[in-house]
Amino acid sequence: MVNIVIFGKPGAGKGTQAEFLKSKYNLIHISTGDLFRYHIINKTSLGLKVTSILENGDLVPDKLTIEILENEVNKYKKTSGFIFDGFPRTINQAKKLDEFLNSLSTQINFTIALEAEDEILLHRLLKRGETSGRSDDINKEKILNRFREYNYKTLPLKEFYSKQNKFFSINGVGDIKVISQRLISIIENT
Ligand code: AMP
Repeated sequence: MVNIVIFGKPGAGKGTQAEFLKSKYNLIHISTGDLFRYHIINKTSLGLKVTSILENGDLVPDKLTIEILENEVNKYKKTSGFIFDGFPRTINQAKKLDEFLNSLSTQINFTIALEAEDEILLHRLLKRGETSGRSDDINKEKILNRFREYNYKTLPLKEFYSKQNKFFSINGVGDIKVISQRLISIIENT
């Protein structure tokens, strides 16, 4: 089994690259953001709880996020691995993910961050907001709040995974196929 975490600020291209890795390596792609949006659209009780959190660009509390992630992983008994997109986003989530995967006799193999400057990401997100229908993509203040959440809560994961020798980062700017190649070279040459 190979399990990969894709990091990156909003707009870094996590979803696009996760879809690529999913088909190349036959992995299950789990995006916690997509799972929350599914619940919001379907107005489930979880969806109603998190609607305003996503709208404001804040992070959903760890307990709910870990629960939704574990439930999703548990749906796949036989798989060659997972690609986690947008999870973990806090140290607590990362610790819980380690424990959970350990209980399934597996582990994270690589965590890869897609790097890009805020200016570029802001531009990408506002452009995406024209068509994505995502309310958190159309408002500059909310986007900047998502960047702040990343800097305060998610960036410390770099040290967490570096200590386990599992952290890599690549330039997330450029042609999508070139960025995919950068990912492949980490996965296949490490
Ligand atoms: P994303 O689609 O990954 O950009 O996530 C959209 C939103 O979902 C985030 O701004 C958070 O409100 C919420 N979210 C997704 N993943 C997580 C996570 N691992 N922890 C907390 N909140 C999350």
